[in-house]
This record gives sequence, C-alpha cells and structure tokens, in this order.
Amino acid sequence: GRAPEAARTRTTCGYCGVGCSLDVLTRDGEVIAASPAHDGPVNRGHACVKGRFAHGFLRSPERLTGPLLRRAGRLRPASWREALDHVARGLRAAVAAGGPGAVAAISSARATNEENYLLQKFMRVVIGTSNVDNCSRLCHSPSAAGLTATFGLSGGTDSFDDVETADCLLLVGANPAEAHPVVGARLLQRILRGARLVVADPRAVGLARYADVHLRPRPGTNVALFHGLAHVMLAEGLVDEEFLRRRASGLPELTALLEDYSPERAAAVTGVPAGDIVAAARLFGRAERPAIVYGLGVTEHLHGTDGVRTLSNLAILRGAVGTGRGFGVNPLRGQNNVQGASDMGALPDLLPGYGKVTDPAARARAEEVWGAPVPPRPGLRIPQMFAAARSGELRALWVIGEDVCATDPDSTLVAEALDACPLVVCSELFLSETARRADVVFPVASWLEKEGTFVNFDRRFQRVRAALRPPEGVLTDFEVIHALAATLGADLGCPTPADALDECARLVPAFAGLSHVRLDREGAVCWPCPDPDRPGESSLYRERFATPDGLAHLSAAPYLPPGEQPDDRYPLVLVTGRRWAHYNSGGMTRRTDNLRLDPVDRLDVHPDDAARHGLRDGDRVRVESRHGSASLIARLSDDVAPGQVFCAFHFPSSGVNALTSDRADTVTSCPEYKVTAVRLTAL
Ligand code: SF4
Repeated sequence: GRAPEAARTRTTCGYCGVGCSLDVLTRDGEVIAASPAHDGPVNRGHACVKGRFAHGFLRSPERLTGPLLRRAGRLRPASWREALDHVARGLRAAVAAGGPGAVAAISSARATNEENYLLQKFMRVVIGTSNVDNCSRLCHSPSAAGLTATFGLSGGTDSFDDVETADCLLLVGANPAEAHPVVGARLLQRILRGARLVVADPRAVGLARYADVHLRPRPGTNVALFHGLAHVMLAEGLVDEEFLRRRASGLPELTALLEDYSPERAAAVTGVPAGDIVAAARLFGRAERPAIVYGLGVTEHLHGTDGVRTLSNLAILRGAVGTGRGFGVNPLRGQNNVQGASDMGALPDLLPGYGKVTDPAARARAEEVWGAPVPPRPGLRIPQMFAAARSGELRALWVIGEDVCATDPDSTLVAEALDACPLVVCSELFLSETARRADVVFPVASWLEKEGTFVNFDRRFQRVRAALRPPEGVLTDFEVIHALAATLGADLGCPTPADALDECARLVPAFAGLSHVRLDREGAVCWPCPDPDRPGESSLYRERFATPDGLAHLSAAPYLPPGEQPDDRYPLVLVTGRRWAHYNSGGMTRRTDNLRLDPVDRLDVHPDDAARHGLRDGDRVRVESRHGSASLIARLSDDVAPGQVFCAFHFPSSGVNALTSDRADTVTSCPEYKVTAVRLTAL
C-alpha cells in the first residue's frame, strides 16, 4: 500500500534566539524533515544545522517517559500521582518550616511564554513568593538592566529588518556565524553589499575576516574600549549635537570622564592598537546608518551592565537610536525564548510586562487580574537561590528545562547547593546532570510537542505548534504546573496556553493586541502591540524614550577591571561560548546526528601557547582554574589570541563550568563567564 501522507506543521525553532520558522514534516510519529519556511519572517527560507537536522533527540532511547522519584537514595520509576503528591508534600513542608521564601523555581527559554507565565503565577499566587528566575540571569540580564536604565525598556531597540538597512555594523562580543547562523548569514549579505563592519571581539569570530577593523580587546576590558571609541567620536565631532541636546542626558558627565580615555589610554588597558580605535570610531561615527549588534561577550562580565550602557553611549552620541528608522542597540539573545521568559515575569523583581513587584500599582493590576494577593518583596536570583540552599534557608527548588549543574558557573558549588536542598524537582527530557541530583524528575514535552508562543531576539511573538504528540507518559510543562497547583488545592485559571496568553494580554498593555488567533492569522507580531487592530512596533522608540524623562541616559561609568586576572600561577584567560553544531548543554543536540559534526568539547589554544606547553593538536590537556579543573582535548587555533583559550560547554562530561567562577555582574548577578584565569598541563 501507499505510505501515509506526511503531516506538515509550521512552528518556531526551539534553539537559538533568531526564531526561524520551520515546516516540520511528520509521518508515523516521526519527524522526517524540518524545512525552513520561505515566508518565515526572520529566516526567509534559511535555517542552520541545528534547526534543520537536530530533532533526532525526540525518539532517543534515553528519553524520559515517566516520573522518577528518589527512594532509598536512588531515582526509581513512579506514577504521576505519586510524584505530584510527593512534591506537594515537600512544598508544604518547606513552607511550614521556612515560609513561602523557602521555595524557589528556575524557569528557562525551553518553556513557552505561556508556561513561563503560568509558573510565575504559580509561585506568586499559590506558593506566595517571588523566588522565580529564568536563565536570562546567566546571559542577558545585564541587557535588561542596561537597556532599561538607558532607554526605558528591556528589549533590543529595533527589529532585525531595520538593522539590516545599516551602512555600518558594529558587532561586539558575538559570533553569529556559529551561534546565530541565520543572522550571521543576513549580516554577511549586508556586508557583501557594501556595509562597513567593525568587529570587537577577543576571538577571530567568523565574520571578523570581513571586518574593516577587528578590535581584539583583552577579555574584561570592554568598557575602556567603548570609552576610547566615544572619546574619538567626541574629539572629532562625529556626534549628533542636535540629538544630544533634545533627546539625551548625561553628556557633561560623560564628556568629563572621557578625558581619561584617549585612544592611547584605551589601548593600554585593552591591548587594542590606538590607531585601530581611531579607525573604528571614524567608521561608526561617519556612517549614515550605524547599527550595534552585540552578544554575551558584552554581558557576561563583572561589569556587564556597564558594558551594555557604555556601548549604548555610542549609538546615543551618534543619534542612531530611537529615530524610528532602525539601527539602534540590539542584543542577540542566546536562547530561543529568553526574551519571552523575562517578558512573562519569570523574574524575582518584575511582574509580566516588567512592572516592579515593589510598585503597588503594578501589583494591584496583577491582583485584579489574578484575583489573589501578589507578594510585595523581590525574590531570590538564581545564584542567591543556590547560596540559600547551601545555607539551609531554601528547602525546595524546582528547575524547569535548565541543566544548572552543567551550565551554571562554578558547578561544584551548584552541585553542593542541590545536595543540600531537601527537595529538588527537575522537569526534563533526559536524565541531565541536574536531574541526576533531583529528588523528583518530571518527564516533559519538547518544543516540537507542545502549543504556545516564543518571543525571539527582536521582540517577535511567534507560534509554537505541536508537530508530534509527546511520548506516552510525558506531559507539557503547562500541564505539569496545572497538575501541581491542583494537587495543592489551587486553580490557576487559564486552562489552555491560548487562555494564558489572553490573560497576560489583559494584564500587560504592551501585549494587549496579542492572541494565538492573531498569531495564527498573521504569523508574527512584535511587542509593543497594545492594539489588536494595529501592527506591533518594530522600533521601540520614536519621539521619546521610555525613561521617566523621555531621554536616553548616557552612562559615565568608569572602566573597572574584571574579577579574575591572569597571574604567574594562572597565566591564561579562558573564554567560554558556543559552537555551530550544538546548543548550550547539548542535552538535545548531542542526541542527534549533529554529534558526528562535533563529537567533543575542545579547547582552542593559540599555537604559541601550545608550543610553550608542549601541546600538539588533539593532545589531552588538564585545565585548572582557582575553582576547579577539567580534562579537555586541545585544538590548535589562531582564532584565539595568545594568552587566551576558548572552550564550549556542550558536553557536561568535559566539566568546563567546574572552571568558571561565581563572580557576577555587580548589578544583575550575571556570571563572569568570559574571564577565568587558568593554567594548562599537557597530559
Ligand atoms: Fe534558526 Fe537559530 Fe534555529 Fe538555527 S538554531 S534554525 S539560526 S532559530
């Protein structure tokens, strides 16, 4: 007989923050192809090796298909009823012993907007605490803080379509050719059509070979570099004086500070030749349409928020933001829904739509919609949750879709925290490093098996649709949150994901025009979208910024050194990041054929350093930091500068995050992943 027709489902890629539209073909319960949608609003017929091919994990024999419960020290199969009852008892015991603040939850970009919305509502309304945070804490929380302080709202200022009209791109601390390949390809097209390119990155990232100027600052010296560029722009009159007069504040303070940041002083701090700083400032300052695109190389630092703010200074000085004509300051979000997880209020200090929990008016609005009191105190951030678990104050932790033992810094301390916490619950696809340490594991659906929405890096809501049913015994996070609430005797309302977005739209004016019905009809809508009959805004600002005074706030934060410095004992600097075939902890991509493209984490070592350590390509090397050690395979590469090494964190068995420190951005607690002093020993 004839093979059954394949079913086609339009959905949004669940890997990086680009948010490619995919047409997923399924037959007999299997994905047979995932094709990039030609009418996809961001990808326009393109997708990378992850979105196209990394779906084999769905039918991995390692997939969890039933809850696990720790009994007599071992995780053993349990029914959903047993698992939910056990967690409910544990939560009640935690609250009885330490109050609602003894419970915390970590959400992630793996969860849809609707799941993030429901989880934060569960924590605030059912448990009575704002101890809820998401993985943006570890990547772009400095963007949220820095962009809000500078311009008023927590999002990239413009859409990628607008950025693409730029005649000069300043790409900072990002490697889109590997981490956001569809954006990397679109940027490259723009460059090949004549846009000038300045790359600021310690590594020779993929697009650097096309750069007019490649600035390679020492890791941790971004702020000095940005001030050096601003110094040249001011000194040479490459600023928009009219814009600065009408739309910005803080120019006198910044001008005074910049006297100390001549190109020569900036060169001494950053290691970038002064002539290159001058050349880059002239390219950016003389462009008609200069745009800034940046990544985690700006945020994951001890002073990451200062990095975002002082980078934003360049756009403000040039009058290249808030004009409604594009360009602007645009973070490349690492994960598919990291913008959405924060938009939905899975944050300890902010409600859905970024109302402060300390603001009585914001709380009153949520209380009106939810019909329940909202706790007024900010909750714990992720690193504070781990510290509270180690000290005994935190008695129950629920981790959803995040392998914190593999991806969070100083993983030895993370493991200690989980071991010390009386109840650890983990919602996962596989027995991750975190799940192994949990007391209860809930098996949950992947992005190809559930309904909802994601928000990509340019604030675009897009539908996530189930191409397949989850395996028997597996629930969606949405269903699990509801089931746990019901076990505790609570009803969260909004029974379907569509209802959850409708409720969120009633609560948040910027989302008021959004619904599943509309997204099904239109495909994608950017927020702010206050009106169902009007398109969303691709540019966040036109006549006014969203700060209380309507002005963009220049930052006069001085350069401060990173938390880790190389010395005689630890003479090299480790930078971590992602490679093209895998995604974050690799939980999904390692269980696909992408493993053949990249089978192991390797440590990039400059040939000069390799020679000094007697290392050849492929040799095993011990890497030690002040926090831990790891055994890795060396790859000789001049993509890294002498004195620096680079490694991804896709294979938890490599233990790369045993090396990184728990030092973190002083404003947001985002870890200083990009600067760890290490030493090498050939094995
Ligand atoms: Fe697109 Fe990113 Fe998915 Fe690749 S990983 S297909 S670039 S959304």
